[in-house]
Amino acid sequence: MSDATNVPNDLNAFWMPFTSNRQFKKQPRMFVGAKDMHYTTSDGREVLDGTAGLWCCNAGHCRPKITEAIQQQAGELDYAPAFQMGHPKAFQLANRLVDIAPKGMDHVFFTNSGSESVETALKIALAYHKVKGEGSRTRLVGRERGYHGVNFGGISVGGIVANRKMFGTLLTGVDHLPHTHLPDKNAFTRGEPEHGGDLADELERIVALHDASTVAAVIVEPVAGSTGVLIPPKGYLKRLRDICTKHGILLIFDEVITGFGRLGSPFAAQHFDVMPDMITTAKGLTNGVIPMGAVFVSNEIHDAFMNGPEHLIEFFHGYTYSGNPIASAAGLATLETYAEEGLLTRAAELDSYWADALHSLKDAKHVIDIRNIGLIGAIELEPIAGEPTKRAFSCFLDAYDRGLLIRTTGDTIALSPPLIIEKSHIDQLVDTLRTVLNEAA
Ligand code: PMP
Repeated sequence: MSDATNVPNDLNAFWMPFTSNRQFKKQPRMFVGAKDMHYTTSDGREVLDGTAGLWCCNAGHCRPKITEAIQQQAGELDYAPAFQMGHPKAFQLANRLVDIAPKGMDHVFFTNSGSESVETALKIALAYHKVKGEGSRTRLVGRERGYHGVNFGGISVGGIVANRKMFGTLLTGVDHLPHTHLPDKNAFTRGEPEHGGDLADELERIVALHDASTVAAVIVEPVAGSTGVLIPPKGYLKRLRDICTKHGILLIFDEVITGFGRLGSPFAAQHFDVMPDMITTAKGLTNGVIPMGAVFVSNEIHDAFMNGPEHLIEFFHGYTYSGNPIASAAGLATLETYAEEGLLTRAAELDSYWADALHSLKDAKHVIDIRNIGLIGAIELEPIAGEPTKRAFSCFLDAYDRGLLIRTTGDTIALSPPLIIEKSHIDQLVDTLRTVLNEAA
C-alpha cells in the first residue's frame, strides 16, 4: 500500500517539465501506483486515467506481460552498444513494427522519444535529398498550432508560440501552413470536419514562393493533439499528399500520439488512407513504460541510402540508446499485448459510444465546442476574458479531486484514455466531467 510518507518534504530540487512549478509545489499531486485504468494517489485515492498517462499507456497500466519482459531482459542483456553492434530483440521489434505499418514502410530507425523521432525524420529528409543529388532541397514546412516535441528542429517546424519565443531564431528556412481550427464553421462536428480541406492548398503558395527545388519536407500531425485536438478537415491530408508528390517533397506524419491504435487502426495513415513518406512515433510503442521512439521510413527513402554513393553509406546519426535491449523487450511485449487484446482496433469499436458520451456534454456550462475521433476527445470551454487557460485548468484540478485525470491545453480539455477502457469507465468519465463543468466558475 502506498501512503503519503513516500512524498519528500522538500520538492524543490526537481525542476519539473511543462509544469507551473510554483503552483505545483504549493499543492502537489502525486501518483504512487497504477493498475489498468487507474492511478493511485499519494493520499490513497483511485483516479481514473482519462489520458493514458500522456497519450502513451494505450494498454493501461502495469500490464504483467510488459513488466515481466522488462524484468527478464534486465537480467539477461541490460545494454548492448548501439553502433556497429546489435542484439536480436531490436531486430525482432523492427520486424514486428513493420508488420503493422502501412505498406511500403519496411524500415525503422529507433530513438528514445517523440522529440528525437522528429529530429531524426527531419534529418533523414534533408540527407535523402542530398543522397539523391538534390541538395538544394533544404526548406521545411510545418503548421501553425503543430507540436513536434521540444528540440530545435521540432520547435522550428512546430507552431506553438510559447514553445518558440524564448529560444532565439531557431532553424531558418521554415514555413508554416495555416492551422485547421475553424470553430465558426466546424463546431460540434463528430469526426472529420466538413470545412477547411482547402487549407492544404496553402502549400502550393509556399512552394510557389520558394520554388519546389528548395523544399525538402512537410511535417504535420494527422490529428494535432497537444494544441487542443484538431482533427483534419475532410480531404485535407490527401490534398497535402498530392501536392507533396507533385513537387517531390517528402511528407512526414508525426504520429507520436496517433500511432498504436488511437484512431482504431495501427496508424492514422491507415485510418485516413493517406500514405506519408515517414512516420514518427514513440509513446504507445512501449506503452509509455520505457522511453523509446521509432521513425518508420518508406522503402524508397531507405533504398536511396542503401544504394547511395559509398561515402554516404553511413547515415551519421543515432543515439546511445537506439534500440536499447530493455526498451526493445518492452516494445515486443507491448505489441503482443495489443495483438492479443485487439487494442489496435478497439478505438473503432468504441467510436460511436465514445462520440455519443462526449457530445452529451454539449449543454454543460461553458462548453463552446466538442471534437472527437477514435478514442480522442476535446471539450473546448469559453475562456475567461484575459485568462485563456484558467477555466480549463481549474476543471483539471477539480476533476483530479473527484477521481478523474484529464489534460488541458489552453481552454480545451483533451481526453485520450487507455484503449482498454470499458463503457462503464466512459460513463464515469463523462458524468464526472459534467459535474466539474457545471460547477466551474
Ligand atoms: N510529437 C507529437 C505529435 C507529440 O504529441 C509529442 C508529445 N506529446 C512529441 C512529438 C514529443 O514527444 P516526447 O515528449 O516523447 O519527446
